[in-house]
Amino acid sequence: MPADSGYRGRFAPSPTGPLHFGSLVAAVASYADAISNSGEWLVRIEDLDPTREQPGAAELIVESLVRHGMVFSEPVRQSERSGLYGRAMQTLLAADAAYPCSCSRKKLTREAAPGIAGLIYPGTCRRRPAPPGANAVRFKCDSASITYQDEIQGLQHIALGDQIGDFLLRRGDGYFAYQLAVAVDDHAQGITHVLRGTDLLLSTFMQIAVLRKLALEPPRYGHFPVVRGPDGRKLSKQNRSTPLNNKICKNNILNALIYLKHDPPRALKSASLTDIWSWVAQHWTLSKLYAMRSDTDKGYD
Ligand code: GLU
Repeated sequence: MPADSGYRGRFAPSPTGPLHFGSLVAAVASYADAISNSGEWLVRIEDLDPTREQPGAAELIVESLVRHGMVFSEPVRQSERSGLYGRAMQTLLAADAAYPCSCSRKKLTREAAPGIAGLIYPGTCRRRPAPPGANAVRFKCDSASITYQDEIQGLQHIALGDQIGDFLLRRGDGYFAYQLAVAVDDHAQGITHVLRGTDLLLSTFMQIAVLRKLALEPPRYGHFPVVRGPDGRKLSKQNRSTPLNNKICKNNILNALIYLKHDPPRALKSASLTDIWSWVAQHWTLSKLYAMRSDTDKGYD
């Protein structure tokens, strides 16, 4: 693609801790795809939920990305964009595509059946007038299925209503839910391509459903298998995966590329960061990730 190709990718970390190897892989995959398509790459700090935030983590993440030679403009923060999410939620409520919900988590644990992405909401508040004081808002899933072509995993399909159910757009504690904020932001920021781990593949169906209801075009999505530790669990900030060592940035990037089925030449070990990224811009090919398809592990963990 020529310069200013229209490609816009993004990396959207939650500031729950410093970057670890698993999140670097997500950053490298989306950055590599953007630069190899002469695109732009944006960073968005997903700090919707202050109760999960670790003070200073956003700054550490940004610093790590800069130290790894990635180029991006000032990141946006979801905590400053609630007006945008509120307007989208009002549009969905007005279109009868969403409804207020007052069910407690306790009630749901008792009454809801397990689905592929947590409990399937039994629809209690869908069938009654808005309960007073209901803070939570749910997206009304219809019976239509959602199908999309994943850039790595191929054709994906789900019966959203039966398999996931009416999901939250705003939580009972008043914070906007991830699914709404991400869908709205990806559109508002003009994102054309989202590359992220398979732990977010099910979220993609919800985000596509929200965008379609808002009559907005979803980006293209690709999901690669998440990095797992020796215990088989996904590396995550919550299970205190080792923070990245910014003193060995080149090594970290080369290891991320190896994980992503790219085979950087040995000579790159002694090259500069700039040379490493130029190699990536020339050699990155999404089709190399097709070899990872069989490792797919959708779902939350
Ligand atoms: N904020 C999410 C996370 O850190 C990622 C969101 C996304 O890439 O859509 O897991």
